[in-house]
Amino acid sequence: TRAHVDAMEQARVLNCFITETPDLALKQAEASDAKLARGDAGPLEGLPLGIKDLYCSKGVRTTAASRILGNFTPTYESTVSGNLIRDGAVTLGKLNLDEFAMGSSNETSAFGPVISPWKRKGDPDAKIVPGGSSGGSSAAVSAHLCLGATATDTGGSIRQPAAFTGTVGIKPTYGRCSRWGIVAFASSLDQAGPITRTVRDAAIMLRSMAGHDPKDTTSVDAPVPDYEAAVGASVRGRRIGVPKEYRLDGMSAEIAALWDQGVAWLKEAGAEIVEISLPHTKYALPTYYIIAPAEASSNLARYDGVRYGVREPGKDINDVYEKTRAKGFGAEVRRRIMIGTYVLSAGYYDAYYVRAQKVRSLIKRDFDAAFAAGVDAVLTPATPSTAFAQGEQGSTDPVEMYLNDVFTVTVNMAGLPGISVPGGVGANGLPLGLQLIGRPFDEETLFALGHALE
Ligand code: GLN
Repeated sequence: TRAHVDAMEQARVLNCFITETPDLALKQAEASDAKLARGDAGPLEGLPLGIKDLYCSKGVRTTAASRILGNFTPTYESTVSGNLIRDGAVTLGKLNLDEFAMGSSNETSAFGPVISPWKRKGDPDAKIVPGGSSGGSSAAVSAHLCLGATATDTGGSIRQPAAFTGTVGIKPTYGRCSRWGIVAFASSLDQAGPITRTVRDAAIMLRSMAGHDPKDTTSVDAPVPDYEAAVGASVRGRRIGVPKEYRLDGMSAEIAALWDQGVAWLKEAGAEIVEISLPHTKYALPTYYIIAPAEASSNLARYDGVRYGVREPGKDINDVYEKTRAKGFGAEVRRRIMIGTYVLSAGYYDAYYVRAQKVRSLIKRDFDAAFAAGVDAVLTPATPSTAFAQGEQGSTDPVEMYLNDVFTVTVNMAGLPGISVPGGVGANGLPLGLQLIGRPFDEETLFALGHALE
């Protein structure tokens, strides 16, 4: 823990942490030492982790990387971070992210962007983004500031930052982890998961994070398997679907080659590769960017300057609301709230929101059909490119930034588990990730296949 605290303090230039809690960490580490000495250590005893600042931490400021929560200290611990602490984990601090988890580059944080520890070949001064929204998590794990980190994934925020930093990230099946105490973005899409350096570490961390929680009615009451046992299991004879619709027009040769490499590796490990069709793929991004803002606009209505968080003074209650929200939310969050309230408004609800929900069912049925036909998992690239430098993408056109999520959002729309594992580096020396998508509640197959790709 001391070594990790030192590393965290020496790497402040990366801006991974919004709040560091070294004193708490060292206290937890001492308690872990005592437990280890007594022989009643938990499965994560004494392991220093980082916590995405979207998870409420009891007695520790929790901001969601927003000005509006700049003074918010929860009196409770989120179920998932509580599970990690129960199992012996040490918590080093709260990791930076895009504001309210909205973004793909960690550039929307009110606490400044995170810088990836990776360098672009021949371009040592470029500030490379760590992906988003879990950019503090991916950069901190990649830079060895912590052994693993919690993250959340609404449309790709675990898998894309993992791909951008050469780390492993898994978004489990919707319902696998409790969402209680995690600041809500889009409740029907949000899931917690880990970012780690290896597939085995991800399996160990997820086992502690997952499980039923009576405080979240969408968490599923099913036993959590021993995920670590799946790491190293044979993948011989497993059927891997390669969806032709993901071979986008204009896909770069580098990403196409990464995908072919993934196919070759799995074949070598004894898996069988089949071409599949997921015909509604092209509607996933536009429908995600209706459903996610709609749910966000509803969830973010609670930040009114009255109940908690920052309050701007005003002449009457409406003035307080207006000033608090105008000052408290950044540009991307305000954009999502406006899109969301628009698609939910009386005149447009059926045309946009209800329609998008119908398309969402079609996207899910595409996957159901592939799994019913005997496919065990689906292999795709995790992202359409390697990481970029700050300001290079989406700085004038937000839709350009949204295109980053093209391979990841379908998984959230269908509620499926998805893992991103490192697949090598591009010509610019930056990491590339491969994504595996599994059947509902079959994270074990993803750990087995993910390990075969390592
Ligand atoms: N980049 C996506 C968005 O901005 C996904 C974010 C996430 O998964 N939290 O909505």
